[in-house]
Amino acid sequence: MENLEKILGQAYSVIKAEFDLELKDSKLLIYSREDWLELIKEHNIDKNREGIYVPEEYSAIVYEKSKFLIPEIFHNFFGHGLFIENSRIGKKILEISKKAKIEDVIYREKDENEKNIGIASSYYNDYEGFALWIEEMLCSKTGNYKIWQEKYSRFGEEEKELLNFFKNSYNILQKFVFMSQLGFNVKYNPLKLRLELIDYLKKQYGNFFENIKLIIIKNFSENKFFKDNKIFDDSNKKLDLLIVSKNQTKKYDFGWIEISEINENEIKNITCGIFEKVEEGGSWRSRESEFYSFLKRLGEYKILYGNKDYVEELKELLTNKTQTF
Ligand SMILES: [Zn+2]
Repeated sequence: MENLEKILGQAYSVIKAEFDLELKDSKLLIYSREDWLELIKEHNIDKNREGIYVPEEYSAIVYEKSKFLIPEIFHNFFGHGLFIENSRIGKKILEISKKAKIEDVIYREKDENEKNIGIASSYYNDYEGFALWIEEMLCSKTGNYKIWQEKYSRFGEEEKELLNFFKNSYNILQKFVFMSQLGFNVKYNPLKLRLELIDYLKKQYGNFFENIKLIIIKNFSENKFFKDNKIFDDSNKKLDLLIVSKNQTKKYDFGWIEISEINENEIKNITCGIFEKVEEGGSWRSRESEFYSFLKRLGEYKILYGNKDYVEELKELLTNKTQTF
């Protein structure tokens, strides 16, 4: 047990250093053979399992005599525990689990509105994939890789596939984007954030990235945003990017990041677009267009990508337009 405490301490340090996350409510319960057998009988749990996490009780329960005690603890306590406590998807799962029929909601494929958050096709796979990924990562970083490999060799195809999917996603998205996409509010390194976001966009856009002239973080200037070097505040705001490019004008929403992309020719052609008609209390009035009022204050925002001359060019263009209007 002394050894176990040391390993738990190491795992806590890894989680803190890697993600600046903590477990606050989750409990780790190690059950004797007798208690474990009673638990699986009572709750009709698969006999081959040696660990579970019960979201509504914030409890990771593992079987004391399990050959894979350490990986089971990493999986259930750290993996599921961190997800339920800290991820917005986890919190959603917890809400659902308090009501009846949780299986119907978390196992089914996500619908169109739900697809922009998470990595997998169902909430369950986000929850399970993350726990598998944490389990392997912690085993590797705490010197328990050998026992992990043995456990892994007993996995079915589905589990192996899910873990590989998460590992590939991590390699593509990198830490900041990967964790944000899974609904975690991750502490970021300001210098790395820029590189990781640009890298992420390059992967999303492929060849179309070459058409991008300017990327701005729209809500960077707000104080409550980027608090403590974290992206989200309590109101779950998204990272809001504006892109000016030669691509088509469109909007994307990935749950944690929202992108408004505007074609540069459309900006050049703004004439009456500076004002838009809005309905208010049954009558119409003119209002400065949201996009124009934003561009007017361009200098206040954080330029993520693109050069200052292009910003000046845009500003000048819009100033001239206001004068001729
Ligand atoms: Zn699990």
